[in-house]
This record gives sequence, structure tokens and C-alpha cells, in this order.
Amino acid sequence: MTSKNNKKKRRTKKEKNKEPIVAYLSFPAFLTIVSSSVEVFRKETIGYLVGIKGENKFMVEYAIPYQTAESGYVHATVDMDRVSRINEILSKVSQGQGLEFVGDFHSHTVFGKSPATVVPSNTDLKSTIPGELNIICAVNMKKRAVRWYESRRGILTGTIGEYRIEIGGYYVEQAGIGRKYERVDIKCPAVTGIVEEKR
Ligand SMILES: [Zn+2]
Repeated sequence: MTSKNNKKKRRTKKEKNKEPIVAYLSFPAFLTIVSSSVEVFRKETIGYLVGIKGENKFMVEYAIPYQTAESGYVHATVDMDRVSRINEILSKVSQGQGLEFVGDFHSHTVFGKSPATVVPSNTDLKSTIPGELNIICAVNMKKRAVRWYESRRGILTGTIGEYRIEIGGYYVEQAGIGRKYERVDIKCPAVTGIVEEKR
């Protein structure tokens, strides 16, 4: 190995602080996640995400709610047959756009007096597939209107109608490490500029 290579391999301080994983939502994906979560408010919705996976980055183009009308409080369970079916369709129609199944989303809702949060539950973590993007959309009743913004913790937050919405992400790198997960920053440039009309 030459000294030139050694120099290249030297780790900079920046590399030590691992870059956060970021997921960018397209406007249609944002709209589907929020509207399907609000629609079933006090129940939970689940669905899957289609997009492009890059290094430490996801571009979410579409969110598609599962057509399973379950009552009560569902949590995402991943049916691998369904995943491969989706990928098969995508490979035929996406014509080199590189669209694929990239993960799941589900909503969290008010439970008794506990407000909904974007923190994955133990059940969520048990069913999480390593390497997949997981988005949680927490729906609560709003106290006041806020415009859409990204919080410092990487949570996309805003209000729609009478609801306060928070969209957070998480990611599990390896299987079998219990409850360990990383946060994924959620960004949606299409909406962080939109100001809700006062009603
Ligand atoms: Zn959950």
C-alpha cells in the first residue's frame, strides 16, 4: 500500500460522527401518509413505501396503504410475498427509474390519555426488517395551528385541519440486536414551505 492510499484511508473527525440517514418524501408520498393516517384516526393505518434507496438516503416517491381493513390497533407486519410481488410489478413498469420497495409506514394514534408519538413500540421493533426504511406518522388533536417544519430531531411536524401530525423515521441496521435502532430524518421540501390557512 502506498502512502497515498494511507492518507486516503485516514479517518477524519467528521466520519466518526455517523451521518444521519435521511428520507425525502415526495409531495404525493407525504399526502398519502398524512391523509390515510388522518382518515382512520384513532385506528392505525399501515402501508408500504416505494422509491429509491441510496447511501444513507431514501427518496420516497410513493406511499401505498395496505388494503387490509382491520379494526383496532394494527401494527405493521411484513408479508414477504407481498414485497416480492410489489418488486416484480415495479421492475416491469418502472423502466430503469430504479423504483423499488424501500420500506413501510404506519400511523400512531392517541391511546387513552397517552398522546401518539413517533417512537417505535417494542412490537414495531420486533417486526422491523433490517435495512428497511420505517416511517411513523403520529396523529394527535391539535392545540394550535403551526406551519410545517422539520424539528431539530428530524421530525416533520405540522397541522392539518384539527390534527397535529408528526412524521418520524427509524432504521434497523442489523437483525438480532434487540431494540437498537437509528432515527431517520424526514424531509419534505414540498411542504415545509406551505403555510396552513387560518380557519
Ligand atoms: Zn407502531
